[in-house]
Amino acid sequence: MPDFLKGKKQLSSAEANHSRCVAKVRWIIESVNGKIKQWRYFSQTIQNSSTPFVGGYLNIICALINAYTKTSNIESDNQKQWATRMLELRDKENQLEQRLQQINQTKNRPQWKKYDAQMVNFPTLTEEDVQHICFGTYQIKQAKSYIEEHLKPSILDNEKYEFVVELSTKHVDLVRVRFASRHSSNKTYIATVQFDEDDYDEPIKGWFCTCAAGARIIGFCTHITALIWHLGVCRGETDSSDPQLSANNLLSNLEDCIQYSDNTSSSDDDDDSSETSSDDD
Ligand SMILES: [Zn+2]
Repeated sequence: MPDFLKGKKQLSSAEANHSRCVAKVRWIIESVNGKIKQWRYFSQTIQNSSTPFVGGYLNIICALINAYTKTSNIESDNQKQWATRMLELRDKENQLEQRLQQINQTKNRPQWKKYDAQMVNFPTLTEEDVQHICFGTYQIKQAKSYIEEHLKPSILDNEKYEFVVELSTKHVDLVRVRFASRHSSNKTYIATVQFDEDDYDEPIKGWFCTCAAGARIIGFCTHITALIWHLGVCRGETDSSDPQLSANNLLSNLEDCIQYSDNTSSSDDDDDSSETSSDDD
């Protein structure tokens, strides 16, 4: 069973890692269940009187799915490699979480200043690099909309958009981004990534986010994925030709007249913390 928040704001690193492993195992089962439910008969409540026939119907449906639909590719080398790595990481602590706790407890807490992501000397990454750290593509698909929502018009050029990050001169190996919650107007999640540009084999050294699933080290939450994807793969560049880039533009205008509930689920911004969601593909 995955772990539940039970009133807490965040799962511990161990709990989040455990939930990630459960989701990774469960997604293929949910994926197959979804295929079966595409058939109208199995997408609705089935009467008790049909019980004697349901097994036979299910066999027929599964035979048709096996014969005529594409099978899930779960036997790739990546999957085996990822499974081994996930088991290695399962019981490890989040070192960056501990470091950030120490930083926040010091008297002279670091000042964080805002910059456009294009100003950051962040390691160059490929899509495959990010997939290997995420152990899949689910978070990457989710992250792209988070990036768009985080874009804001540039102060210097209102025609352009920028992805705002925060840097501190005291901790030059860290970059963080403050993501607005999708469901609560006054809630933000801080995603922090530790990197080393000179380490070509392992340039991403650690990550921690304040969202519900943000402490895990088996992959990372969607906020961390958005940060790493935009800085590492997109190199901080935005497509300023897209007029619908930023939902923030719209939201900032409507902020005064829209009241969001504060009583949202703590997993609201991080779909992968949902215990039943299919986490990968
Ligand atoms: Zn997060």
